[in-house]
Amino acid sequence: MRMLDLIRKKKTGQELTKEEIEFFVSGYVQNAIPDYQVSALLMSIWFNGLSLNETVALTNAMVKSGEVVDLSFINDVVVDKHSTGGIGDKTSLIVLPIVASLGVPIAKMSGRGLGFTGGTVDKLESIEGFKTELSLEQFKENVRRYGLCLVGQMGNLVPADKKIYALRDVTETVDSIPLIASSIMSKKIASGADAIVLDVKVGSGAFMKDIESAEKLAQVMVKIGKEMKRNTIAILSNMDQPLGNSVGNKIEVQEVVRFLRDNIWENDLYELSVEIATYMYLLSGKIDNLDKAKEKVIEVIRNKSAYNKFTEFVNAQGGNIESIEKLDVKHQIDIVSEQDGYVKEINSEEVGIATMMLGAGRERKEDSIDHEVGVKLHVKIGDKISKGDKLFTIYSNKDNNDDVKTKLANSITITKEEVTKPPVIHKIVR
Ligand code: URA
Repeated sequence: MRMLDLIRKKKTGQELTKEEIEFFVSGYVQNAIPDYQVSALLMSIWFNGLSLNETVALTNAMVKSGEVVDLSFINDVVVDKHSTGGIGDKTSLIVLPIVASLGVPIAKMSGRGLGFTGGTVDKLESIEGFKTELSLEQFKENVRRYGLCLVGQMGNLVPADKKIYALRDVTETVDSIPLIASSIMSKKIASGADAIVLDVKVGSGAFMKDIESAEKLAQVMVKIGKEMKRNTIAILSNMDQPLGNSVGNKIEVQEVVRFLRDNIWENDLYELSVEIATYMYLLSGKIDNLDKAKEKVIEVIRNKSAYNKFTEFVNAQGGNIESIEKLDVKHQIDIVSEQDGYVKEINSEEVGIATMMLGAGRERKEDSIDHEVGVKLHVKIGDKISKGDKLFTIYSNKDNNDDVKTKLANSITITKEEVTKPPVIHKIVR
């Protein structure tokens, strides 16, 4: 087989075989095929797309490029969730204890975040003492005893994705639906999931800016899941404003605790968390009716079983949950409205960039982050506000915050006309 022939085939819109796809993925991982040839193939894929068969073959080849986590010790359906990434998205920390408290075993590996804020692992590390690196034995023991364990990435999962993603990043080929779908699904499958709930974000702070492309991505991922015998559903959710009322790391854990312990929440975070938890419960096979699943989810939120599961899980991994009560920052700065009106837009991406400028996110893998800093939102789209009302509070350890203040002030649009609240969930794809 020659790489040149594969490039020619894809360039002229022909379908690659499973063997050809395996050849290029394994050859690339073993450094037998150079970057420039894979770049040419990726660009041809960007223009001509991949069929479902090709996308499934690519996903499979990527899974096979590295280790696959063996969760067979659980002896039950392993359900996982994945979000395509949003601003203020702390749903994993809410949803996983909910589902675990309903008897669904959760054994999750999560990444550190790259970009505006930390990932789930970084958020958990803002809890004093919380260990995200456990031995495999300890990981298994915690899943058996508590039904919930969450750790950072273990093992060498999907090395092909790491290499191909890095190349896509510098060849302007990230935004290709089959490439995104196979990248996400290969990682979920390699981390041992039997069933997957995908939260595909749509809007200003998301990869997918419009509903049509988000739906296409969701459909491809759901089809890959079905072809690979992983029951998969996707929720298309709104990312036209940050989710909930906080963006950062520890500040987001505070919001999670308020949600689970005090049952105080922003409506968007509540609605999305309930929806994700409901589908995870349904896909676990422990219940067969969607409405009943939702009722049970709401019940464990209200009766605090989910909160008890959350604290049990935090304690089991060495964390002191009381440590999150206070943000240890030098400056707390309010931004207030200069006019009366209604909130029309809160650009998530701009809020994300502002939070990253404070140090809550990282640009490169090796950067360290400041867990204490972040941004609190006091308003959401559709809210009526008066001059002088607080819009944001910045929690910062920097002495000069003028750039962050300007960014946040510019992220919000206020109009005189009444604004209707946007939907939280656009669609379910299954
Ligand atoms: N997230 C991923 O994991 N892969 C992509 O290609 C895009 C987003």
